[in-house]
Amino acid sequence: MNYLYEKAGGKISYRGVRFGGKKIVFIAGPCALESEEQAIAAAEIIKKASVKIFRAPIFKPRTSPYSFQGIGTKGLNILEKIADSYRLLTAVEVMDVNQIAELENMVDILWVGARNMQNYSLLKALGKTRNLVLLKNSLCSTIEEFLLSAEYILKEGNSNLLLCVRGLRSFDSVARFPLQIEWIPALKQRTKLPICTDVSHSAGDVSIVPFNAKAAIAAGTDSIMVEVHPWPEKALSDANQQLNEEQFLSMMKELRKIANAVGRCID
Ligand code: PEP
Ligand code: MN
Repeated sequence: MNYLYEKAGGKISYRGVRFGGKKIVFIAGPCALESEEQAIAAAEIIKKASVKIFRAPIFKPRTSPYSFQGIGTKGLNILEKIADSYRLLTAVEVMDVNQIAELENMVDILWVGARNMQNYSLLKALGKTRNLVLLKNSLCSTIEEFLLSAEYILKEGNSNLLLCVRGLRSFDSVARFPLQIEWIPALKQRTKLPICTDVSHSAGDVSIVPFNAKAAIAAGTDSIMVEVHPWPEKALSDANQQLNEEQFLSMMKELRKIANAVGRCID
């Protein structure tokens, strides 16, 4: 069987952003969009590092049904304002097929979270959109299962696809989901699709996030997803892993050096 993922990819240009080239593309912003004030403050921070893509999900997959579930569709107007005023592309998680219609024209990048990697009806429906789709690996998937999930999206005709390495469940508690760094070269051997690395959900703690990012760049990632919050101590989700302004800007300074050392660059 010849799979589409074997040939797909190369350099993907999407609404002015190029993935898979020399430049490493950052997708940064809070774990969840909480309020207009918080979203504006987060956008101001990421703009200082010339980031072009703002993550701010409005629907959140939470382990407990009693935890904050996201601001919901009222966040769409906030995202639209941020996109216009800061000239940023926006990225949110889509958890269910019936959310696609309201998101596809309002948001640029739609991502499939770890818990939905094998939600095949969601993958097929995203394959029919023209959005850039980012697919995260599930908490305990093999690389073959991950690539076959990507195949569901490609098969429906959408090759604007980014694969996101986000850590795997393990028995140790140093990291929340230890980052399977070897997947970055292994994916590159199997596909030309650009690779993103989520350095926040893998680390689970701000003290580890910058090291995951350095390692991912050294291993050849094309993109990095990172959580940044103006006031992490007040965050409604993932407070321990969201970088504040100072932590984020200092990480970005370090990462520019690593990128240069491996023949890449960061805007
Ligand atoms: C997220 O990025 O907001 C998220 C929930 O990540 P994951 O699906 O990888 O846990
Ligand atoms: Mn989070």
